[in-house]
Amino acid sequence: MSVWFDEVLHDGVGQRLEIEEVLYEGQSEFQDIKILRNKKFGRIMTLDGVVQTTEGDEFVYHEMFAHVPLLAHGRAKRVLIIGGGDGGLLEEVLKHDVEHVTEVELDGGVVEVSKQYLSSICQQAYDDPRVNLVIGDGAKFVAETDQTFDLVLVDSTDPIGPGAVLFTHEFYSHCKRCLNPGGILVTQNGVPFMQGDELVSSVGHFRSLFADAGAYVISCPTYALGFMTLGWASDDADLRRQSMETISARFDALAIDTQYYNPATHIASFALPNFIVKLIDPS
Ligand code: SAM
Repeated sequence: MSVWFDEVLHDGVGQRLEIEEVLYEGQSEFQDIKILRNKKFGRIMTLDGVVQTTEGDEFVYHEMFAHVPLLAHGRAKRVLIIGGGDGGLLEEVLKHDVEHVTEVELDGGVVEVSKQYLSSICQQAYDDPRVNLVIGDGAKFVAETDQTFDLVLVDSTDPIGPGAVLFTHEFYSHCKRCLNPGGILVTQNGVPFMQGDELVSSVGHFRSLFADAGAYVISCPTYALGFMTLGWASDDADLRRQSMETISARFDALAIDTQYYNPATHIASFALPNFIVKLIDPS
């Protein structure tokens, strides 16, 4: 008899994944953690019943979360990741010529389970000497630190439970204070067809704090129901509008193999469908 994992999404909509095996099931201090296996997606991590990442399509989210801001910036040396305990974003960031990455993940359990069961996603990223892993609340970290970074990447859960604080004006204002001049903030902002309010709220905060605010889109199968948006904020408006020539030259110099990211998907990801434009820029 087949066993199915049912994820309740929003507004009476959900998705089902057939589970071949439950590899891990446990309760951390903060959340219920599961590693499941599905024929199409391979290993899947869920937190409190919500799919976080899968072996099958993690490349979409992690490549676009890392390479778009890193190649748009062009000379980022210090990166701060908030959340991201599965290590997939960290692993992509470390492919660049960065000197230092601090990752602040609330739940040490997520990191440990990922190292054990999702090594295909995080590889050996946590052993890299450039990495400083901090187990703690990302909001508290940015409020208290005197360190500064070229990029702040907020790879958070949705704005419920411990992740809610990572969607507030106060949190974003501390992120801005932690950014070096010309720095970029990128945030996980959900699927706007279903979670439009989340994007409207974040971009509204960005607009009141930064000279340039917007979002770019990715199409990631397990984040069901259309494009997902990654929020974008910077005081340098040119970074969102780099030319194909600039991005191509930087990508060629990086010489990495990617499955989703390329200079064309980079440039195209900033072209937003009208229903998303109307959400974030009603004027
Ligand atoms: N890609 C995923 C998604 O959008 O579904 C996000 C994955 S990542 C595993 C999200 C991480 O954010 C989780 O490991 C969670 O523990 C962490 N997190 C939630 N709230 C946090 C907070 N306040 N500070 C730091 N990390 C937090």
